[in-house]
Amino acid sequence: MLDQLKSYFGFDRFLPLQEEIIAKVLARRDTLVLMPTGGGKSLCYQLPALRFNGITLVVSPLIALMKDQVDGLRANGVPAGMLNSALPAQEAALVQDQARQGKLKILYVAPERLALPGFQRFLQSLEVSLIAIDEAHCISEWGHDFRPDYRNLKALRENFPGVPVIALTATATKPVREDIVTQLGLENPEIFISSFNRPNLTYSIQPKTDPLGSLLHLLEKHKGQPAIIYRFSRKATEETALELSERGYSALPYHAGLERDLRRETQEKFIRDQVQIVVATIAFGMGIDKPDVRLVVHYDLPKTVEGYYQETGRAGRDGLPSDCVLFYSYGDRTKQEYFISQIEDDDERDKAHTKLDQILALCDLQTCRRAYLMEYLGESWPETDCGGCDICLLPREEFDATEIAQKVLSTAIRTGERFGVNYLVDVLRGTANKAVRTRGHDELPVFGIARDVGSDELKELVRSLVTNGLLAQQGRGYPTLAVSPQGRTFLKDREQLTLTRPKHVAAARQASSSQGTSGRATAYDTKLFDELAALRLEIATDREVPAYVIFGNKTLQQMAFHMPQNEAEFSKISGVGDAKLREFSEPFLKVITEYMQANGRTGNIQQVPVTAPKKRVRGISMSIRETRDLVAQGLSLGEVAEQRGISQTTIRSHLERFVQEGGQVDLGHLMPSETKRRKIEAAFKEMGEARLTPVRDYLGDDYTWEELAVVRLELRQRQSQGEPVA
Ligand code: ADP
Ligand code: ZN
Repeated sequence: MLDQLKSYFGFDRFLPLQEEIIAKVLARRDTLVLMPTGGGKSLCYQLPALRFNGITLVVSPLIALMKDQVDGLRANGVPAGMLNSALPAQEAALVQDQARQGKLKILYVAPERLALPGFQRFLQSLEVSLIAIDEAHCISEWGHDFRPDYRNLKALRENFPGVPVIALTATATKPVREDIVTQLGLENPEIFISSFNRPNLTYSIQPKTDPLGSLLHLLEKHKGQPAIIYRFSRKATEETALELSERGYSALPYHAGLERDLRRETQEKFIRDQVQIVVATIAFGMGIDKPDVRLVVHYDLPKTVEGYYQETGRAGRDGLPSDCVLFYSYGDRTKQEYFISQIEDDDERDKAHTKLDQILALCDLQTCRRAYLMEYLGESWPETDCGGCDICLLPREEFDATEIAQKVLSTAIRTGERFGVNYLVDVLRGTANKAVRTRGHDELPVFGIARDVGSDELKELVRSLVTNGLLAQQGRGYPTLAVSPQGRTFLKDREQLTLTRPKHVAAARQASSSQGTSGRATAYDTKLFDELAALRLEIATDREVPAYVIFGNKTLQQMAFHMPQNEAEFSKISGVGDAKLREFSEPFLKVITEYMQANGRTGNIQQVPVTAPKKRVRGISMSIRETRDLVAQGLSLGEVAEQRGISQTTIRSHLERFVQEGGQVDLGHLMPSETKRRKIEAAFKEMGEARLTPVRDYLGDDYTWEELAVVRLELRQRQSQGEPVA
């Protein structure tokens, strides 16, 4: 099994549980696999598929992803195909033929196909060895993503008695789990539940003061890296996307109100690294299998802890350090409470309240966020310091809160214990607004006694007093604050109170932007990485697949660390299997060798790490800059290629990358005639910009690849400058 793991997938070791699961599948047992995103579920059926004689059917609801999955398998030398509604009839017929002739090992099918009688007949004509049900929670109405089509799966199972079924999901709750077993009719299944901890994710929850500023700060750290920003409303996604675009970021909004085609295009652009940031409602994510998302921001308060876990889970599937940041404010809380109060059904409303309380508890926490998440998911978490959340990373300091606590409690008593936090803060800070004046509270001796304390700080303090039991919250919607018996004793006996607070704001920022579970990032040569990434993009663009189908970031990092010199060394890199070794070792080795010659380095394989910068600062590589400079001097792409001794495609991909990272270069001298340019732009508008081939097919041979590429570059430059594109 290890041999196959290496020769097909390029990996040396199994991830936790993979080996056990595969052993059961090979023993033809029904299995249910619950693993978090990024846990390595696919391999649990892909590897057995290679060992069985017949074909493995994989049912997956995510049609958008199927192609990338199939492309990924093919790049690894695994014969795979797919059948879904997006496929032209002719191609579908071809795939069916191949399947019948036993030429495919893995066949992805969309669940809605299963309802077609003809399709069932086709399946019956195959020798099926294994049935894999991906995203198996879609079969359960308890889950967050019920798909009626998944009910067809029971029939599928019945039509293939004795064929083992493996069901896989990242949703772990017990009702869903039980539902999957019954709905699919799994027989005496072996159930595998792996830890849902995501060690490479750093969780951080910050007060929502100056959220845009904080966001820009985070994006600065994650320059050029894929990021998802979740917002509460459709309108808000558009606003934020615009604000980011205006500041030169490549960002697009995504929500259910946008047209289907546009949504698909945005998704595709994100997967193919043609847009860096997507600002989305929670509608975005189900179909996103992008492994290298480095940052997920919840700009507004999420509705539930499950949702928060799912959405943050989209970061770092490739196992590399990634940041998850949530901005939390009292205002958001009130907003959600208002929405919940509008729910008419009593039960539903109660449920929503409970969910909200749980997410608020996560925000209010003064202890490890990860521990809370894990316990929420039903896992015990023994460690006290996870090393990967703001609480554990951030030094907190104790301070004497006696006096300020006395002030807050007295104000609550003086105003009659009938008000919420905002009102209390107004009185404490001496804000004589109408509400305060009509009640005559501006006349109270406590009015303005905490004038010198910031309102956020006061709100935080009120939260602490609630958490510590000195204040009691009453009622829902807009909870009022009353002094608890404990609080009264505190006042009466003049007790001392010590609370903790973040050491200082600078430190808070530090923690939110730290390198995750620290020290885990490999020390690799970042410039070489950039060179390799440029080559990867070139190859991916040529083949019209996402970059990660060629090699994942982890694999490139290893190359940039070990700097292999020959095929034997190259083959040792994790992620390099036989097929990729054959196809890609030459160009990648060439880049590495040239880089080492130019930089006077010798191989790093048995040596101490290079002068490695601890943190990878993503920048534009020297090589890309050189290309840009030559183009800016007025050379044609052909001339640049000749002068630099690299291919035109590489030159083009340099420019793509440069523009993608927000760079601007004058392309005037490369532009085709005005009429041609207009036609090309129209074609891109019609067919989407993600791929050149359809546009070229459409326009014919009068148009060169270079012309198409240049017009697209210009379009992107305009977009990244925030100019509306006609
Ligand atoms: P899931 O479907 O559970 O979210 P994937 O199957 O997409 O996870 O795998 C997540 C990542 O882990 C992928 O980039 C995959 O290539 C990688 N991976 C899977 N198995 C291994 C392994 N044994 N060693 C190293 N990387 C692996
Ligand atoms: Zn922690």
